[in-house]
Amino acid sequence: MVYVASEQRYDTMIYRRCGNSGLKLPAISLGLWHNFGGADVYENGRSMIRRAFDLGITHFDLANNYGPPPGSAEETFGSILQQDFTAYRDEMIISSKAGFHMWPGPYGDWGSKKYLISSLDQSLKRMRLDYVDIFYHHRPDPATPLEETMGALDQVVRQGKALYAGISNYGAEQTQQAIRILRQLGTPCLIHQPRYSMLDRWVEHGLLDVLETEGVGSIAYSPLAKGMLSDRYLRGIPKDSRAGGPSVFLKPEDLTESVMDKINRLNSLAERRGQKLSQMALAWVLRGERVTSALIGASKVSQIEDAVAALSALDFTDEELAEIESILA
Ligand code: NDP
Repeated sequence: MVYVASEQRYDTMIYRRCGNSGLKLPAISLGLWHNFGGADVYENGRSMIRRAFDLGITHFDLANNYGPPPGSAEETFGSILQQDFTAYRDEMIISSKAGFHMWPGPYGDWGSKKYLISSLDQSLKRMRLDYVDIFYHHRPDPATPLEETMGALDQVVRQGKALYAGISNYGAEQTQQAIRILRQLGTPCLIHQPRYSMLDRWVEHGLLDVLETEGVGSIAYSPLAKGMLSDRYLRGIPKDSRAGGPSVFLKPEDLTESVMDKINRLNSLAERRGQKLSQMALAWVLRGERVTSALIGASKVSQIEDAVAALSALDFTDEELAEIESILA
């Protein structure tokens, strides 16, 4: 059936300005790391992208290596765009990245100009796009001069293959350097994509301060700690969950007694707030406005609906924040 986007799609979503830029991002963005690969069910992915867009999620995050197999999430997304979204390209913010292993030999990994430029060309072909909105360097490369990697980001923006440049997984100090180099080149750093959730708070020790001072936005990935900060694992490990399935990125061993104790206590607090734990976890990441967008993953449409519904209860009392601190301590 031909897809026609909901006319109400912009009625409830919150859009936040990304740092000092002109670009606004939805408070909830959708990532295609899991559940959109060649091994996954195409129609499920397609339903999720359609529903997300109908709910005002304008931003979709990819990377060259998302799958499995690597590259297949971009191919799936390209097919969905072709089938359903050709009329809506100008309403979408699509990102991709390069920085992890993608192809054999010395030019398919890390941060050389050779790798970044050819990888983006491949990503554009897989997604059947002329340009991405944001292109990221996916992780710092200890061996390549930062000037070269940032020079590659500047070049793809000048070529029109990306509209904005971003970095991901960079520490506070490297972020400061990258921002300075990009500014000198005339292509300001739009955004940083770090991991951030109640269970992983490294960004609070310097990175968020740098981004705020420099006027750079941020998008927090794995805000649900890959699904742990939800009701998914309260009664064991379901077969269709990330920890119960073939993903190597969340294993049953990660659900330790101490983590489960925190999750249970956080879940009780969320219930008292009239929310699901996953919704409280998203509201928490978005508190204080230093994080522009929470970048979720989903395996089913209902999880996207849950996430967007979280936006109707973003506020915390001081008592609630203190209780969260004591649970996480
Ligand atoms: P999350 O922490 O949001 O975890 C998503 C998973 O949580 C879902 O796949 C689902 O797992 C579970 N879940 C989601 N909503 C609910 C709900 N309402 N109730 C119960 N369970 C729920 O994020 P991800 O780890 O998936 O990462 C999100 C995105 O971030 C990626 O797609 C990618 O774009 C980006 N990312 C970037 C990285 C980088 O290095 N820059 C690294 C990792 C991610 P289940 O399968 O169990 O249903």
